[in-house]
Amino acid sequence: MRYISTRGTAPALSFEEAMLSGLARDGGLYVPETIPTLDPATIAAMEGQSYEQIAYTVMRPFVGDTFSDEEFRACIDRAYAGFGHAARAPMVQLDQGHFLLELFHGPTLAFKDFAMQLIGQLFQTALARRGDRVTIVGATSGDTGSAAIEAFRGLDNVDVFILYPHGRVSEVQRRQMTTPTESNVHALALDGDFDDCQAALKDMFNDFEFRDGVGLAGVNSINWARVLAQVVYYFSSAVALGAPGRKVSFTVPTGNFGDIFAGYIAKRIGLPIDKLVVATNQNDILHRCLSGQGYHKGETIPSISPSMDIQVSSNFERALFDAYDRDGAAVAQLMDELKAGGFDVSQGAMQTLQDTYASGRVSEDETSAQITQTLNTTAELLCPHSAVGVKVAEDQRVKGTPMITLATAHPAKFPDAVKAATGIHPPLPPRMADLYERAERLTRVPNDLGALMAHIKENRSK
Ligand SMILES: *Cc1c(COP(=O)(O)O)cnc(C)c1O
Repeated sequence: MRYISTRGTAPALSFEEAMLSGLARDGGLYVPETIPTLDPATIAAMEGQSYEQIAYTVMRPFVGDTFSDEEFRACIDRAYAGFGHAARAPMVQLDQGHFLLELFHGPTLAFKDFAMQLIGQLFQTALARRGDRVTIVGATSGDTGSAAIEAFRGLDNVDVFILYPHGRVSEVQRRQMTTPTESNVHALALDGDFDDCQAALKDMFNDFEFRDGVGLAGVNSINWARVLAQVVYYFSSAVALGAPGRKVSFTVPTGNFGDIFAGYIAKRIGLPIDKLVVATNQNDILHRCLSGQGYHKGETIPSISPSMDIQVSSNFERALFDAYDRDGAAVAQLMDELKAGGFDVSQGAMQTLQDTYASGRVSEDETSAQITQTLNTTAELLCPHSAVGVKVAEDQRVKGTPMITLATAHPAKFPDAVKAATGIHPPLPPRMADLYERAERLTRVPNDLGALMAHIKENRSK
């Protein structure tokens, strides 16, 4: 199994190399050279299996010889053992034909735990075998950083440094990053905003002396292994509703396009998916693009669903690569145009995208109203991201095809928006109810690349 870059010039890599390096050297993203398929009988046999068993069947062909069968099985088992729900990704019914897939029972209460917990185990296994160690540096607006710290805390071969904008993450998000006690965890509060954090990270990756010196590795959502881990719950949920004998549709609250792209991979593997619906908040660049208006950057407007506040949706490059018949030069050209503000999509590629993805946009008022309405009609408390999904799904679902909306975070992770909509302050699950009492540990850092790199060099384990 080989992985190739969406920009066509970086060398093809194994799963292990693609996972450990993250971004391709030509600036592109790694995708599988071919997509292995599963036949309907294999998919049908998933009915009644555990989440871990389904995960193994779906992901095994993509991993190649990077891990033995036993190693890979053990990584999966360890990854999901700490989840707060026996089913890992349970579903509840919202209405006739409309189901909510709860992806927030992991340790940091957002769907990012599904991928991050697994790649923590995969990194550890691969690095131990190589006798190698890496320094993971990540930038976060909240959810990715907490999920990464939770996944890598206490692992022997990894230091994890997370840059978050000081004073601009929710209290729950901050405490999830600052309360782990393991010495390989470093929460860095940067004096700046999220864009400053991302820019600093990018500059570190482009400083090859630093990059090689500390063994820099990235775990943001462009890492292929993260996309792969997210393919699994499309299978577990669809099979529970009658697939492959019956088609299902999905609606996905979308920011960086990683989660919905995993749905597209599920379809390519052989899951009969009817519609894949992209749900955006007021930062609707993807909805505008999929409506045929081109991909043109605007200002990011802060919203009550902050994990979807985005203008450059990095995994969309993978969708473009397939829509342009895997023409790396064409994708590289579009990405150049994007630096200057945006690009238009060719007619043929637009047709391909629209055959695969539908889309919808939800305003701030509609998001709040959906939280209230769902509480009143089902007693389910939605986080604002999930509410964006449920609203778009309600507008798009058709009779006869079950619609599954992905609930991407627990309401307690975004208590202010939930309280404003419903008057209810959502409680944390009992297993983390003492989060507000735990001691915090963080380092304030200036928005200065030199100082930042010096801090990382000095504080990583040698
Ligand atoms: C990251 C995130 C999203 C967006 O997911 P993408 O894979 O970036 O599209 C949506 N909701 C929540 C709660 C998230 O943390």
